[in-house]
Amino acid sequence: MTVKAYGAHAGDQPLVSLDITRRESGAHDVQIDIAFCGVCHSDLHQVRGEWAGTQYPCVPGHEIVGRVAAIGAHVTKHKVGDLVGVGCMVDSCQHCADCEDGLENYCDGMVGTYNGPTADAPGHTLGGYSEQIVVHERFVLSVSHPEEQLAAVAPLLCAGITTWSPLRHWNAGPGKRVGIVGIGGLGHMGIKLARAMGAHVVAFTTSEAKRADALALGAHEVVVSRDPVAMAEQAKSLDLIVNTVAAPHDLDAFLNLLKRDGTMVLVGAPSSPHPSPQVFNLIMKRRAIAGSMIGGIPETQEMLDFCAEHGIVADIEMIRADEINAAYKRMLKGDVKYRFVIDSATLAA
Ligand code: NAP
Ligand code: ZN
Repeated sequence: MTVKAYGAHAGDQPLVSLDITRRESGAHDVQIDIAFCGVCHSDLHQVRGEWAGTQYPCVPGHEIVGRVAAIGAHVTKHKVGDLVGVGCMVDSCQHCADCEDGLENYCDGMVGTYNGPTADAPGHTLGGYSEQIVVHERFVLSVSHPEEQLAAVAPLLCAGITTWSPLRHWNAGPGKRVGIVGIGGLGHMGIKLARAMGAHVVAFTTSEAKRADALALGAHEVVVSRDPVAMAEQAKSLDLIVNTVAAPHDLDAFLNLLKRDGTMVLVGAPSSPHPSPQVFNLIMKRRAIAGSMIGGIPETQEMLDFCAEHGIVADIEMIRADEINAAYKRMLKGDVKYRFVIDSATLAA
């Protein structure tokens, strides 16, 4: 079937309205009418060719929510009319050790929601800036938030799980002091989730103007990372840092804030490397630097259910599909509170 989408024909071209084809539902497929799709900084990195290997046309979008329109004969997990979500993956090998552990995100055969390998036309996956998508049922999540919150649920499918997974893996909770670096789409979710898990949350931002917002989002303390005195006051005080910054920067400034045995998890994925940190900043306090990529399907469902139970959604600004190029410009300036979400009804306009 042919549906409307928004995407780019080349890295230096703006996104434009496109007609794309979706496969007919197979026995294990769920066909979804997309209601809303969040705008992740990864979309911008990918569509502009800032990461290697972008295939065109590129239709970004991996924070998808909508309603089930049809199901294949063997689908048991979802039924027509259900509110559902799709995040950064639409398939994986489904039998390796990572898949068996419910960590499909680390499967070597993981298929990204866009720019992933597929037999479907045009030979790579096309994402959620589109009216419909067809996805294997395993990769479709159940949404139990009230329907009126649906647009603000969309960013949980990437920004939510990408911060939830390291917070859980490194045991954020009562008695732990957790730093969240960068208050953008990921960072604002990191603050909300770490707070709801019971941790003491310190938000780090380059923007003094975000101080009041960070407190309202749930941070106990806010530090402007350009202020050396405020940074020094946090020295050796944090158990865990989740660093979401989308650009290369000095990691030592943050490593110094970890206690003995503390870990800084990098989730921001800039297109060029960070300057290498000082080894002595690691060995003197047995500190660690780690990475983390989105999250597996079971933990994504766990995060969605936790958020529904605790009334947690993203802070969003709704846009029309034809506002996406302007939205990217604003995202690069940090001018979004705190996630753009495309209203899919405007794709056909
Ligand atoms: P975003 O909304 O643009 O937020 C990034 C934040 O980083 C900004 O709001 C800003 O916060 C801070 N920042 C400081 N200096 C910056 C600079 N020079 N350039 C850009 N940002 C700077 O982006 P996002 O959607 O949260 O994504 C953040 C990064 O995570 C991206 O690289 C994205 O590709 C990556 N990502 C990784 C995963 C994963 O699985 N690991 C998943 C999704 C996204 P302040 O104003 O508070 O300083
Ligand atoms: Zn993302």
